[in-house]
Amino acid sequence: MLQKVSLGMSKIDKYRLMMSRDVIDEVEELSRELKGLRLCHINSTPFGGGVAELLVSCIPLLRGLGIQADWQVIRGDRRFFTITKSLHNALQGSEYPLINEALTQRVYMNNSLANAKELDQNYDVFVVNDPQPLPLRHYCHKLPHCHEEAKWIWRCHIDNSEPDKDVWQFLRPYIEEYDAAIFTMDKFVPTDLSVPHIAIIPPAIEPFSPKNMYLSKTLCQEVLENYGIDRDRPLIVLVSRFDPWKDPFGTIEAYRIVKQEVPGVQLALVGSFAGDDPEAWDLYAAIQQEAYEDDDIYIFSNLIGVGSMEVNAFQRASEVVIQKSIKEGFGLVVAEALWKEIPVVAGNAGGIPMQMAGGLSQYLVDSIEGCAEKVTYLLQHPELARKLGKEGKEHIRDQFLTPRLIRDELSLIKKLMG
Ligand code: UDP
Repeated sequence: MLQKVSLGMSKIDKYRLMMSRDVIDEVEELSRELKGLRLCHINSTPFGGGVAELLVSCIPLLRGLGIQADWQVIRGDRRFFTITKSLHNALQGSEYPLINEALTQRVYMNNSLANAKELDQNYDVFVVNDPQPLPLRHYCHKLPHCHEEAKWIWRCHIDNSEPDKDVWQFLRPYIEEYDAAIFTMDKFVPTDLSVPHIAIIPPAIEPFSPKNMYLSKTLCQEVLENYGIDRDRPLIVLVSRFDPWKDPFGTIEAYRIVKQEVPGVQLALVGSFAGDDPEAWDLYAAIQQEAYEDDDIYIFSNLIGVGSMEVNAFQRASEVVIQKSIKEGFGLVVAEALWKEIPVVAGNAGGIPMQMAGGLSQYLVDSIEGCAEKVTYLLQHPELARKLGKEGKEHIRDQFLTPRLIRDELSLIKKLMG
């Protein structure tokens, strides 16, 4: 059997003092109607990256609402995950000519068949996240233990607006076997995709999780001091997987320009490795090489114990967070920083602009120089930085907290269940 991630249950009531009661009421109403529904999310890693982060938050809350929610994780070896990472990159616009080779297709599809055989199919609804487990629906259909009545939703977390043509033509038929597809933004929906239901649902962050819960200033300072950061000098932080789309090298270059104006500035690159991301190791080594001779650049990761709570502390204790992504499905890290009232300078890419409302929209950048200029300005104008951080938090409260995400997903499921 595939691994089921072990999680508990949490209650929705705790959000009542934090956000719009209308949203909570709607969630409760929908969950009353769907009570007892067996819902299973499927993805390719229990840790590292935005999807795992979302599922860790949503599954307990769904359970607390009376939905029988589970999370199964597919298996794969390095060869399989190298292919799926290339598919991920190709959906975001990279070329991947190997998709036309029989061997590539065979490895991807045979692994999907093996996973389909091990999938517990006792659910009413499956939500399959991203391209790694995508063909499961194709095979589950054909297996003797198939649950024919089950509804299948494909959830795309990627900026799919300009996919590699060959990869898209290869994947599209498998997506079209689904009952519904969810995208983060309208512009990510390919025009030639035909599925019975398409929903636009942006992700959200969980304010009570160790990643986002309140931590006192003193505690954050202590965490940072533990990692050798000088708290008497300004800190800018990038939190992301080690992934070229997050532009870590552009971030280092921007930092070097900032340093000419603000000599004391320090940069922390806080990154994580994920089970489905073999590309990360080479990038990690290259970043270390790049940062080798600068004592004010720090590179931390989950390998040395920088987990959710530590990321929380780094985000809270930084003067400015950078997320200079080149392509970005959504970028939970932007919402996470804003929730902590920390201003963000971010790439004008994919799902990021929808999080950067009001004055923050001036801090969307398209170049290294632009990024450096905005960061420098915020470091030199702490009052403005504070004001933007506070505005940002209100926008996240209004649009991007977990109950809103759950409401939107349950509405779609209700539609599908008829
Ligand atoms: N993250 C983390 N530790 C790290 C780097 C990232 O916990 O060292 C988390 C980050 O806080 C966020 C998620 O991984 O919750 C990344 O999600 P995002 O949507 O920003 O990007 P993705 O990895 O899905 O492309």
